[in-house]
Amino acid sequence: MTAVAASWHELASALRPRAQAFIDGAFVPAASGATYADASPRDGRAIADVARCGAEDVERAVAAGRAAFEAGDWSQAAPRERRALLLRLAGLMEERLDELALLESVDVGKPIGDALRVDVPNAAACLRWYAEAVDKLYGEVAPTGRDALALVEREPLGVIGAVVPWNYPLIITAWKLAPALATGNSVVLKPAEQSPLSALALAELAAEAGLPDGVLNVVPGFGPEAGEPLGRHPGVDKIAFTGSVEVGRRFQVYAGESNGKQVSLELGGKSPQIVLADAPDLDAAASAIAWGIFYNAGQTCHAGSRLVVERPIREELVARVVAAAAELEPADPLDPSATVGAVIGEAPLERVLEHVAHAREQGAVLACGGARADPVPGGSYMAPTVLDAVPPHAALVHEEVFGPVLAVQEAADAEDAVRLANATEYGLAAAVWTREVATAGRVARQLRAGTVWVNTYDAGDVSTPFGGMKASGHGRDRSLHALEHCTQLKTTWIALT
Ligand code: NAD
Repeated sequence: MTAVAASWHELASALRPRAQAFIDGAFVPAASGATYADASPRDGRAIADVARCGAEDVERAVAAGRAAFEAGDWSQAAPRERRALLLRLAGLMEERLDELALLESVDVGKPIGDALRVDVPNAAACLRWYAEAVDKLYGEVAPTGRDALALVEREPLGVIGAVVPWNYPLIITAWKLAPALATGNSVVLKPAEQSPLSALALAELAAEAGLPDGVLNVVPGFGPEAGEPLGRHPGVDKIAFTGSVEVGRRFQVYAGESNGKQVSLELGGKSPQIVLADAPDLDAAASAIAWGIFYNAGQTCHAGSRLVVERPIREELVARVVAAAAELEPADPLDPSATVGAVIGEAPLERVLEHVAHAREQGAVLACGGARADPVPGGSYMAPTVLDAVPPHAALVHEEVFGPVLAVQEAADAEDAVRLANATEYGLAAAVWTREVATAGRVARQLRAGTVWVNTYDAGDVSTPFGGMKASGHGRDRSLHALEHCTQLKTTWIALT
């Protein structure tokens, strides 16, 4: 960390972020000239007037992406050339760590320490990983007879529309951009309206690194105004979407009603942590449960928002989780010692509070929190909240709250725990805590989730695929598998007779 507490506030007041759209290698206003005020949930104040893009801007961005793709400077470049450029971009991100971290912290109200240690480094590491991978991938020769040579190669799709949420703007943008760019595609990125600033800064760095004009375009704006025209555009070959179930399903409709483009969906979750009575270390479990739900103020797709605990240890574990939660009270995001920051805005905060009130009406017992917090006047903050004895039919068990709220359910045994854990429409992530390897393996196999952790939570890196089952979607970000979603197979059959 290079700046001290007082200077983060000074730097934040001096911020003049890039706020225009980035199309065909240049920052430009929206064609309509419209802007919107991008406010920080840290204190409710506007940070920038951001270009409010619409269909005309999307049209220009897709045309620029297509022209760049056809020109071939990027799409046809040797993999080692794309590798070198993406490594330069990752290096520039690391050089501008403070600036990117500050934008991310102010735009979404997350602790500056997290942005410095997690968001920016992880995003840069993701770019580095795909850059390093792309010149080491081989095609295939099919096992035909002697009189033919059949090559199976991967080709880029063309223009990929990336539509991302606000909770981890840089990380999720990197998950989309890195494999798409590494394989030679052009990208039109639609950041969330709440958090466009780091995406625009990244576009500037990409240009500085030497990315040809038109390969990366950024169209900030609102979902129905900029996201929908992108989803419906006949010149877009694929939408890589991360966000809510409701909007993800809309993109499938947009695709079906336009050109049948591919759509990959990374959606929400209601992820359970199962703790069995023989869990090896209740303190470790309590700490992981608290961090698993309260990190990023609970606004994480795979937040461990449900605790399913075996009866004999329920009281003890809930007490320890409540004690761990006390360490995670929200604080000023610009204070380097803050562990938890803001909820994204007033309306979402009200919705979280309504969820809590409704769960209590349905019989849940408030163990801690349940109310707003006020570390910075004008901001949107909520105390870490634990609701015990939540009935299985309660909305809190089934609906994604996207705030710092843990729902506790009691299980009679491991089998009952699995049944409760699987009883939602989501299937993004889950965990099981037990001393028995065989139990862990059995339960992990029974859980319908894209990732299952054993005796830990939220561990992993870019080398492992990440995505959901059931309503949580079907795409996979991260790992070499993400490259499959950015490319298509081409067979070349050569007659040898
Ligand atoms: P959201 O679905 O409201 O918005 C996501 C993106 O879609 C934004 O860019 C938004 O502008 C755009 N959009 C909204 N309405 C649209 C419309 N009608 N047409 C076209 N585009 C539209 O989600 P959010 O509130 O930004 O993010 C929170 C959600 O994202 C949660 O459900 C969370 O679980 C999910 N999420 C999933 C993952 C994952 O990897 N599975 C990661 C992070 C977040």
